[in-house]
Amino acid sequence: MHFKRLRNIIVMGMLCYLPFTSGAWSLTGHRIVGEIADSYLTKKSRKAIADILGKESVAMSANWMDFIKSDPSYNYLYNWHFINLRAGLSETDIDSYLVTDTATDAYTKINFCIAQLKNRSVLSLENRQLYLRVLIHVIGDIHQPMHTGHFEDLGGNKIKVLWFSIPTNLHSVWDDKLIESQDLSYTEYATAVNYTNKQQRSEWQAEPISKWVTDSYNIAQKLYADVTMPDQKLDYKYNFNYLDIVNHQLLKAGVHLAGVLNDIFD
Ligand SMILES: [Zn+2]
Repeated sequence: MHFKRLRNIIVMGMLCYLPFTSGAWSLTGHRIVGEIADSYLTKKSRKAIADILGKESVAMSANWMDFIKSDPSYNYLYNWHFINLRAGLSETDIDSYLVTDTATDAYTKINFCIAQLKNRSVLSLENRQLYLRVLIHVIGDIHQPMHTGHFEDLGGNKIKVLWFSIPTNLHSVWDDKLIESQDLSYTEYATAVNYTNKQQRSEWQAEPISKWVTDSYNIAQKLYADVTMPDQKLDYKYNFNYLDIVNHQLLKAGVHLAGVLNDIFD
């Protein structure tokens, strides 16, 4: 019956729908990634992170970067949430692009934040908080396939679709709609998808960040190909077809984030 609430949301959504350009996994999505990462932190990392974030959990700190969009002094962070790429690139194309990438994007800024946090002795507490919250958030974002989407459609923001009759766009379906439709809290969701074994985690955590980008990009290509007409209606079937990929990307993001945090803080 988990679509019952969805029907209510649809009715409410029809009454108060406002178009907007979204830019991140939903609040819940980011918290799921943070919660999963938290479960794989070493004791030493967990303590070092608590020294920086205080009583803010990894899961809750994951939303900071969306909340501060309301403050114009943080406008410079806008391009840090995603990396747009051209259509039709191969893995080799992406790898060679990323090697020389100096743009302000999710890939360069993840690397930047890691380097800053490793340099902890010279970094103020305020900056350690900033870079840690950004890192937790953007590692989540880069696993949302449409955050590695194409320039020309702004990562799917310009691709209009209907989600159970509600006008929205492909980017937003992947940010929010699929996750929110499951009607789970972030802790319930994290518990439901957080199944890995040590070998799988080691393999995933050994992957370079460029591989995360390529994997996301390759998923995005399938998503683009699957929307063939304007205002295409996406509903139960779409949810059924793609839920495993959503869950897999959330899980991988959490495991990747834990690997990065343990590398920095342990
Ligand atoms: Zn974001």
